[in-house]
Amino acid sequence: MRTMQDLVSALRRIDGRGYKAYKDIAGEYDFGEFTLSIDHVQGDPFAAPSRLRATAPLNFAEIPARHLENRTRRVATADFLTRRFAESIRRICRQNRGSGKSGLFSIDSGGQEVLERTSILLHSAGVEARFTVGLPAAGRRVLGRQAEEMLLSELPRIVSASLRYRSLQSGDLESHVDTVEDQEEMRGQLAGLGLVSFVGNGSILPRSSGVDDRPLLTGHSTPVVPFSSPPELEVELTRPNGGPIRGMGIPEGVTLIVGGGFHGKSTLLRSLERGIYNHIPGDGRERVVSLETAVKIRAEDGRSVVKVDISPFISNLPFERDTRQFSTENASGSTSQAANILEALEIGTDLLLIDEDTSATNFIIRDARMQELVSKEREPITPFVDRVRQLYEREKVSTVLVMGGSGDYFDVADTVILMDRYEPCSVTEEVRKIVANRPNQRKREVTTELSISNDRRPVAGSFDASRGRRDVKIDARGLSTILFGTENIDLSAVEQLVDSSQTRAIGEAILFFSRRYAAEGMSLRDGLEMLDRELQRQGLDILVPYKVGNLARPRRLEIASAINRFRKLRVQ
Ligand code: ADP
Ligand code: MG
Repeated sequence: MRTMQDLVSALRRIDGRGYKAYKDIAGEYDFGEFTLSIDHVQGDPFAAPSRLRATAPLNFAEIPARHLENRTRRVATADFLTRRFAESIRRICRQNRGSGKSGLFSIDSGGQEVLERTSILLHSAGVEARFTVGLPAAGRRVLGRQAEEMLLSELPRIVSASLRYRSLQSGDLESHVDTVEDQEEMRGQLAGLGLVSFVGNGSILPRSSGVDDRPLLTGHSTPVVPFSSPPELEVELTRPNGGPIRGMGIPEGVTLIVGGGFHGKSTLLRSLERGIYNHIPGDGRERVVSLETAVKIRAEDGRSVVKVDISPFISNLPFERDTRQFSTENASGSTSQAANILEALEIGTDLLLIDEDTSATNFIIRDARMQELVSKEREPITPFVDRVRQLYEREKVSTVLVMGGSGDYFDVADTVILMDRYEPCSVTEEVRKIVANRPNQRKREVTTELSISNDRRPVAGSFDASRGRRDVKIDARGLSTILFGTENIDLSAVEQLVDSSQTRAIGEAILFFSRRYAAEGMSLRDGLEMLDRELQRQGLDILVPYKVGNLARPRRLEIASAINRFRKLRVQ
């Protein structure tokens, strides 16, 4: 292995030469306390930055064994180290060095959620940090001295400050790991208690803004109301580290969240959506958990749908279009919402989360007067209100629905929560009385069983990832677009995706699914289950041929969402 001195000599030799000369520094270097691997050197200063790794043995890092003793704690520890690494970059590195993106270190450190990612890996050999460096340039010339400063002076300080237990704020690491493990354990208790979600007392649900996921802070005109459970719904969960915790338990079945506009209904639902993830301490939602298969369902007109059986909700379309194998390039609000539900059921979900704000009205309700005017024979849609109980009673799939605009759901609800100035109240009893005193005139329109098919088999050949001269060209553009070969996959309506590194991983997972599982004729459901098991066993690295630091773990449900929105998808 080469030494630090070798790297210094190489950088001095190429100083001032054309940028391509940087290719000479690829390789492994012994830095004493850690090994530096320069895996990929960028071709020019404006290309994607160079990929590097620093691997320190465990006896350098000295992370206490208790932080590594189970999977959840390892993920949380790695997440903490990644955030410290990013912070150290900001603190230690000189800014404004060289042209383009050159002169910058970067590590993929995530937002409010704690995800399994490839930026820092903890394994038996030690701690491995994967980061990128824009190798510094003046125009297109190598700035060797500056590179020397970055790699030989700044990098060792970053590594020392972030990968070494004794230089970390050990109390912060402790509480980070404990808080994450507590959430995982709380989520695990839900099913046994007959709950689908839990919102701990004192939680801060509203976010700073529509584009900033950090907690809303109290300002002079905006008091923030901490969550406090209605007594009727209050339950207690236990936490291995934080002790017992009380809060609102949302029971299985059909739950309505009602209340006036701007009273916090959607904010509550959104926190339940995000309750599939663990949050960092101080987020405000680190005591909010939902079943891990919870799925946000919304209308998404314009999306493509490929051979989905939407007949439980849509049948008798004009001109006898088949809705048992419904395909369209351009779904309507109601057909897209129906497809979203049936695709989630196909993969497997225990909880649907629906907001009136993002639903198709005609999918959600059809009241008595409309039933009188437009007879059932002329309306293809069976509204959700007529299926929601069947979903629970036959399929054990619960629903939480935000519904401020119609009382038609009172007849089918088990639990009703009223949001009043951001305070939840249980109004289930009042609703029972209203149902008794004011019978609904509408008729139930269900005439059929609920059939859910889960054996769609994607054709492997439909996943062509080639573009131009490249056999595989897959990338993410921000959070909600995957570039897959020549196609763009639009995930802007897939609302539980939180990190563009998940998006990137999904792009790669699609190719992996097609080569490994679709090629064998496996169904989407079975193939994704196998894929998930492999990811669990071997980690995200199986998805790509190189060691990259910018992947984060997606759920099976979001991978399915992307495959289902891939416009070239073909199904056997
Ligand atoms: P609804 O869906 O009932 O119309 P929203 O959930 O959209 O209401 O909330 C309306 C506004 O109130 C949002 O700007 C949100 O950030 C804010 N908000 C929600 N919950 C709280 C709270 N607990 N404290 C302070 N502001 C809140
Ligand atoms: Mg709303």
